[in-house]
Amino acid sequence: MPSYENLLRALSEEKKNNIKRLFDEIKFTEMERLEIAKSEADLNLWDEKSFASFAFGKNNKDGRDGKRYIEALRKYMSALRSEETDYSSFSPKWEPRTKERVKISEYPLFITECPCPKDGEETRCCNLNTLDVFKQCAFNCSYCSVQAFYSGNEIEVRENLKKELDTLSLDGTWHIGTGQASDSLLFNNKYGELDALSEYLEEHPELIIELKSKNEAIDYKRKFPRNLIFTWSLNAETIIEKEEHYTASLDKRLLSARRMADNGSLVGFHIHPMVYFKGWEDEYIHVKDEIERLFSPEEILMVSMGTLTFTKSVLKKMREEGRKSRVTEMELSPFAGKYSYPLDTKMKMFKTLYSSFSDPFRENIFFYLCLEAPSLWDKCLKKSYKSNKDFELDMKKHYFDKINRG
Ligand code: SF4
Repeated sequence: MPSYENLLRALSEEKKNNIKRLFDEIKFTEMERLEIAKSEADLNLWDEKSFASFAFGKNNKDGRDGKRYIEALRKYMSALRSEETDYSSFSPKWEPRTKERVKISEYPLFITECPCPKDGEETRCCNLNTLDVFKQCAFNCSYCSVQAFYSGNEIEVRENLKKELDTLSLDGTWHIGTGQASDSLLFNNKYGELDALSEYLEEHPELIIELKSKNEAIDYKRKFPRNLIFTWSLNAETIIEKEEHYTASLDKRLLSARRMADNGSLVGFHIHPMVYFKGWEDEYIHVKDEIERLFSPEEILMVSMGTLTFTKSVLKKMREEGRKSRVTEMELSPFAGKYSYPLDTKMKMFKTLYSSFSDPFRENIFFYLCLEAPSLWDKCLKKSYKSNKDFELDMKKHYFDKINRG
């Protein structure tokens, strides 16, 4: 089977036939065929017109030469990728995933390192550790890499969580996240997971556990220890609606955070992944306005910013599945073994958003860039660290200062 065949799997028969006819009539190298198939898979994913359908029409002699066809295709793709993504006429329909297929199991519970690349420190990383309280998610964010790790829709929930936590031997201070293999508030304590984490943290004030969610939090009946941090991933409303399928709206996420702050917990926000789309500036500033309207700086522990990053395997999976999404309609610049926006685009977005926060927020909240190039820090946040270790230590210092103030 030719190497490009899988990429065309999700295309309609009509589109496949067009490409087959193109390959029959024009002599392309194997690499050129692969490039055409990748581009057609991307156009299909973005719900854009197939290039082969208009550049290789009956009356169009212009595409009859292989080289000219490839040049025209590159120009077309590059124009789409470099512009701000247009979501105005894009309305993808995604099937819901189920939360009902749950397996309570005793998988080994490990504290593992955040998977971002450390060698050479290409990205500035806070050395977060991760703990998988659940595995797999019931939401359907188009850019999610969690679904590339696990096959099937079944969600595993760790049985006897507190007993298992008690077996961990952790010396010193640790910052642990539970939102890497699922959504931390997916079940809203249905399996006693928040009780288990709280009891464990009450016995271990030297640890910080950070929950990360796009779900609506229920009205919990208990107070949580201050070192259990409730954070929400926030995004522009357009991106939530068109790319973060079946998650809570921006309003519901913020009101959930408000409820937790009223309950005495510290909250935080990951404005991540920021997408470079038509209207990005106004919509991300609206997110900032809402944060400032609903919270005081003392209630917020951290605000992070980050953009889209894709591994080769996630890009391949998205192209082959063909579920409509425009998150990959961007310049895919190689970055730390993955693909992301060019640095200039990232700088424009981070700088704009960070500088829109008022002084009391910038001065009293720990802001950082998540998994981004060290060179962006100074330009965007007017601070930087020499190493990941320095970043980790400063973050923990700020976090513990605020936790202990409560
Ligand atoms: S909420 Fe998080 S884990 Fe769940 S689908 Fe979205 S990105 Fe993936």
